[in-house]
Amino acid sequence: MTQMTIIAAAGAAIPAQPFAGRHLIDGAWHDSATGETFERRSPAHDVVVSRSALGAEAEARAAIAAARRSFDSGVWSRASGKERATVLLKVAALIEADVERMALIETLESGKPITQARGEISGAADLWRYAAALARTMHGDSHNTLGPDMLGAVIKEPIGVVSIITPWNFPFWILSQKLPFALAAGCSCVVKPSELTPSTTAMLGGLLIEAGLPAGVVNIVLGYGPAVGAPMTTDPAVDMVTFTGSTAVGKAIAAAASGTLKKVALELGGKNPQVIFADADLDSAADAVTFGVYFNTGQCCNSGSRIIVHEDVAEALVARVVALSRQVAFGDPLDPRTQVGAIISQQHQGRIDGCVRDAVAAGAEVALGGAPMTVPGLAGQFYQPTVVRGVTPDMAIAREEVFGPVLSVLTFRTLDEALALTNDADYGLSAGVWSENVHTCLAFCRRAQAGTVWTNTWMDGFPELTFGGVKQSGQGREIGPYGLEEFLEVKTLVMRIGRSRAPWVKTL
Ligand code: NAD
Repeated sequence: MTQMTIIAAAGAAIPAQPFAGRHLIDGAWHDSATGETFERRSPAHDVVVSRSALGAEAEARAAIAAARRSFDSGVWSRASGKERATVLLKVAALIEADVERMALIETLESGKPITQARGEISGAADLWRYAAALARTMHGDSHNTLGPDMLGAVIKEPIGVVSIITPWNFPFWILSQKLPFALAAGCSCVVKPSELTPSTTAMLGGLLIEAGLPAGVVNIVLGYGPAVGAPMTTDPAVDMVTFTGSTAVGKAIAAAASGTLKKVALELGGKNPQVIFADADLDSAADAVTFGVYFNTGQCCNSGSRIIVHEDVAEALVARVVALSRQVAFGDPLDPRTQVGAIISQQHQGRIDGCVRDAVAAGAEVALGGAPMTVPGLAGQFYQPTVVRGVTPDMAIAREEVFGPVLSVLTFRTLDEALALTNDADYGLSAGVWSENVHTCLAFCRRAQAGTVWTNTWMDGFPELTFGGVKQSGQGREIGPYGLEEFLEVKTLVMRIGRSRAPWVKTL
């Protein structure tokens, strides 16, 4: 492909020794009982960057038992909000002090640009800080309208032991959407990061110890889904599973957890539409579309991968997006100028390419890119910025997650048609609307089936604003006050004042 911006190998030093990850169980670091380990190679540089203890069922069960003991002991579950907040704030400060070390390994394991990794790690520290505030301000309800001799209260208690299972695309950020909120609620946790990106989660274990979190409250087990994740979803000692990942694994987890009726919170995939009306500010929309599709190499649940644009402006918008795509810096994630890094694995690269080929075979047209690419000096896998137009709603590329830097463009004529296309999806994670007419925007927001609707913007997020999906994008919510509620159980207290209760047993 001609005319695109490629950042060649930066020559930045990669640590000579891979990061060594171990399990954190009951406050102590452990190798696996078998002594086995697994390696992660950088997807951009193709060198070993971490070597982790390979967990199995034994480690998962030990971690669950430690979490159960710590929860039942009350050491954290009955600690005051002030005590919990104090530890969470210390963790936030320790994360901030460690941004460089954590961002480097996050980049090396995931292939994301180093500037983005730095932003995600320091942004995650803010999630810990926000959760600390919730730990001190959460409360239940009181009812004093039940009569002069009655008082009712609904109190909130931690749900118990929580299994946290996370994916590879935002390893530390997604962990921080869950763990500090579970801890603010008073839960004990078992965490399993993705086998592709285990290291920042293991690093966090060290920071939790340093911050003074009692032993057993957070346990970390490294390894693969079937060996480590599966027991975390079936063990009777676990009260809740919170999972972020693919819809297929999410469904399997919901089924596995049903055997013991655990609460299940799921953050799954998306096929997120950005709807662009003819009166939209096309320059702003084109820039946001370009950002939405290439951010994190499109390996993003919130990827704005489905553009639904009004016929009158479709050509102009596609031309702008293609021109902008050529300016986006693809290449070595260790170069601070790089905006888009590597693809997570060769197998995934093949899947992305297959989606584009299938779309072309179904009659779509590639307006830009559409093939793997090489970055001078790097042995890893990269994919060209790709725009596919002439997509129809029935094509797989319009319906399924590609999870790569690939944009599909569909067109519409009326608001009703745009909404029908928006809602014609199994997913319902997020959606966007671009128009200068407030009535058009509000009508769209009210009728779009999505957990988040962005208006004249894309992918802005704040700790205060909750996040989650409808339909097959998941169940439950993360961050914001609702994110805390997920980890709380409510208990009703009914209290009589005095001896006013009339006897039930009558003397006949
Ligand atoms: P994945 O489903 O393959 O794996 C996610 C995690 O589940 C990993 O830790 C994996 O080891 C574990 N796992 C696999 N099988 C398991 C099993 N049987 N039992 C328990 N755990 C198991 O997902 P991925 O490829 O790591 O991530 C990509 C997916 O995540 C995409 O579909 C993306 O849309 C989704 N995602 C969603 C959100 C969101 O907030 N909605 C955010 C990020 C990613």
